[in-house]
Amino acid sequence: PFDVLVVGGGPAGAAAAIYAARKGIRTGVAAERFGGQVLDTMAIENFISVPYTEGPKLAAALEEHVKGYEADIMNLQRAVKLIPAADQGGEHEVEFASGARLKSKTLILSTGARWREMNVPGEAEYRNKGVAYCPHCDGPLFKGKRVAVIGGGNSGVEAAIDLAGIVGHVTLIEFMDELRADAVLQKKLKSLPNVEIILGARTTEVNGDGTRVNGLTYEERASGEIKRLELEGIFVQIGLVPNTEWLTDSSIELSPRGEIVVDERGMTSVPGIFAAGDVTTVPYKQIVIAMGEGSKAALGAFDYLIRH
Ligand code: FAD
Repeated sequence: PFDVLVVGGGPAGAAAAIYAARKGIRTGVAAERFGGQVLDTMAIENFISVPYTEGPKLAAALEEHVKGYEADIMNLQRAVKLIPAADQGGEHEVEFASGARLKSKTLILSTGARWREMNVPGEAEYRNKGVAYCPHCDGPLFKGKRVAVIGGGNSGVEAAIDLAGIVGHVTLIEFMDELRADAVLQKKLKSLPNVEIILGARTTEVNGDGTRVNGLTYEERASGEIKRLELEGIFVQIGLVPNTEWLTDSSIELSPRGEIVVDERGMTSVPGIFAAGDVTTVPYKQIVIAMGEGSKAALGAFDYLIRH
């Protein structure tokens, strides 16, 4: 059995594994796809102290760094069930799709999240070629250009306000006939000169020239009329889904959005089980934040171990 078993191998899981292994305790890290969302990322320009890198390069560096320590890396292992210890100080068990079962005194859950996609033609084809999901990450790439934000909830409206300060023009597209964001955000959005809001519109296609996005097609729901916008970028803001489906029948407390609730040391509602990164309720889903939270959860787990 492990002292610390990390489930998930993105920035949070890698940081947790390194911090745990450096304490000289038995550490394992099991991940469906080591590297996580970073593998799907092109340019990264906000990883502090590294002005520019690319996703696959950072993912390889994460793995390399973990391999420098005595931590068991188990890649291509998808966790399907968590069985918390029957009593405090006992061992927790994780079951994997492969049938493998691993036991550990503490767990660090870092299974991350995924952006909800529109699932329209062109979206996948132009991902990272004009289709973006993270305004904090990719906003500056569209400086002075025309972009659309899809989604009029809090994240969509926040993204539109944020982008309006960087890009030339923002069109916010909402499916329903009204925005769902907080009133204060809506007021701010409506005060901006370079923002247009289109309500009751269903995005039907991402258009491009073969290499980059050059437009977006939508249906005006009331009339059924098809319209097209000329633009260079599309930010999809229709939800970030935490990878917690495998925890639904465990006793770990999840927020209404399905995120794992953690305390200031990264501990979940179950003693000895910690969580870190995009899978938790901690706001602002970013690489540096996930790494910080993963490190914190590992120190929290170590602290827990020396007391039990
Ligand atoms: P993830 O990176 O999601 O890693 C989760 C890990 O858990 C993976 O190894 C996954 O395979 C594994 N996993 C999931 N489910 C299971 C399971 N059931 N069993 C076992 N393993 C499982 N952030 C920035 O700071 N800067 C950027 O420029 C940037 N650009 C981005 C661009 C794109 C296209 C995307 C999608 C995200 C971007 N982000 C960026 C966000 C950043 O990637 C995330 O905040 C960060 O990766 C979160 O790390 P994490 O370790 O919490 O989760």
